[in-house]
Amino acid sequence: MAPCPACSHDVPTPIFLNLDAWRHLVCPHCKARLEMKPLRSFVLGPLMVPMFLLARRSRVLEVSAFVFMFVTIFLLLLESFHPKVRLRTKPLPKPTIRLDIDGPSK
Ligand SMILES: [Zn+2]
Repeated sequence: MAPCPACSHDVPTPIFLNLDAWRHLVCPHCKARLEMKPLRSFVLGPLMVPMFLLARRSRVLEVSAFVFMFVTIFLLLLESFHPKVRLRTKPLPKPTIRLDIDGPSK
């Protein structure tokens, strides 16, 4: 559950990996289209590379690189289980190929 930025009611959020559900997420109270806020802990990811390069130099840096890695993973998991939503401002991208799974018998 995440508060809707438009009407501040709780919106049931799909799980983090269900990207299709996120794409069509609409607030059930005010019909505002919503999207997931980018996870802030993702910015920590690229920092891991220099940390592990430095880790070869000394024991202390090695330990701190591992601690940093676990903290990053923990924050990512924490944020993905409690995603925040914001109003979707961009229009939905038009699908280039339309799948007609149900067939013409609609
Ligand atoms: Zn709402």
